[in-house]
Amino acid sequence: MMLKIKRVPTLVSNYQKDDAGAPARSLGGCGRNCLKTCCIPDAKLPLYAFKKVTGKDLALRECGEPPVAFLDSLVLGEWEDRVQRGLFRYDVTACETKDAKIWMVIPGEYGFVAQLNEGRHLKKRPTEFRVDKVLQPFDENKFNFTKVGQEEVLFQFEASDDGQVQFFPNAPVDVDNSPSFVAINVSPIEYGHVLLIPHIFECLPQRIDRESFLLALHMAVEANNPYFRLGYNSLGAFATINHLHFQAYYLALPFPIEKAPTKKIANLNGGVKISELLKYPVRGLVFEGGDTLEDLSNVVSDACICLQNNNIPFNVLISDCGKQVFLLPQCYAEKQALGEVDAELLDTQVNPAVWEISGHMVLKRKKDYDEASEGNAWRLLAEVSLSEERFQEVNDLIFEAIGCAELDVNVQGVKEVDAVSSSSHPTTVVVAVLDLTLGRGFQAARNNKFSIRG
Ligand SMILES: [Zn+2]
Repeated sequence: MMLKIKRVPTLVSNYQKDDAGAPARSLGGCGRNCLKTCCIPDAKLPLYAFKKVTGKDLALRECGEPPVAFLDSLVLGEWEDRVQRGLFRYDVTACETKDAKIWMVIPGEYGFVAQLNEGRHLKKRPTEFRVDKVLQPFDENKFNFTKVGQEEVLFQFEASDDGQVQFFPNAPVDVDNSPSFVAINVSPIEYGHVLLIPHIFECLPQRIDRESFLLALHMAVEANNPYFRLGYNSLGAFATINHLHFQAYYLALPFPIEKAPTKKIANLNGGVKISELLKYPVRGLVFEGGDTLEDLSNVVSDACICLQNNNIPFNVLISDCGKQVFLLPQCYAEKQALGEVDAELLDTQVNPAVWEISGHMVLKRKKDYDEASEGNAWRLLAEVSLSEERFQEVNDLIFEAIGCAELDVNVQGVKEVDAVSSSSHPTTVVVAVLDLTLGRGFQAARNNKFSIRG
């Protein structure tokens, strides 16, 4: 199957170029048009202010005519503009014309996508930090996004303060107000590959916090297209830059992970539903629903924060216009360090990050592309996954952190409480069971259990 890239016209004008050419500006700055204090005071960048969606507003967002088509004009239009300006290290769109077989959907049940991208492997920015620690302090001496040129920035992205979507083609950059940027990834793996960099000038390390994750969900909502996904790699799970960022790109295919069956394991207060992935090579959790976007965002963020605090590397895929989030703890780098990964898999030099785990295999050698099969994709991803035992341990940590009861754990917890206390404290047991059925009070039940034992 041959896939074509959808081309969209650049609807936003070249005002930035005009600005960049103004003599006053080149006199004022360092000449690089950078993001440092030498150049930023004079900078003008487009600003897209999204409407904060609360509760049932999600359904109403279709009503008004937006001032600019977020995905087609702004994200993809500006991205194409940067292609024209030759800002990428290689041309990901050129692959298609040179070689009709640069892409394929691997035959089989899952529809893994194989892509050959030899350029990325050679020209990517090198990883500059240790892989065995999920949390590491920001280091301004290493590459970070404040070092990119203004021309790599597509627009500023923030919440609107008047409840309406707003767009300003030439907005000043208010450094004191912590702007978030959307910039190109100069090593794109796919059409429209961009980076969301929350509060860029705060120089946050690569770690999830509630506010930044909500911003990423808002970007998925604004794009309003299921083929535009956002992804996140923690340190130790193949993030290559320790400066907080999400990736996103457009690919008009369902990802295998999105088609995998799931089993519901918990319903939380706030309407968030958690499921476990089934029949997929990587074990993971799926978060959906929520009375508000913030409900969903907070639960996922808290789960990520728990993994971070426990030094468990993970990847996140934001899918279905921000309605579905996949969380995948992984152990490939750890296995690699321990010498437990098969030499054949290591030879492929594939780093299984969020896109590979989701089923979009970015291969670096022609040989692997030619030999791509569902079996090979599965073998690689199976190495990424935690074991069933470890996955359940990690789930226990997550469920404890987000203060809810996993159904399977519930049953076990109740039995244990029951076994120890049925003779002397029958009332306590009944209360615990009621709390658990309501999906609350897991913490309480645990404390209960521990205090009985103690
Ligand atoms: Zn400068």
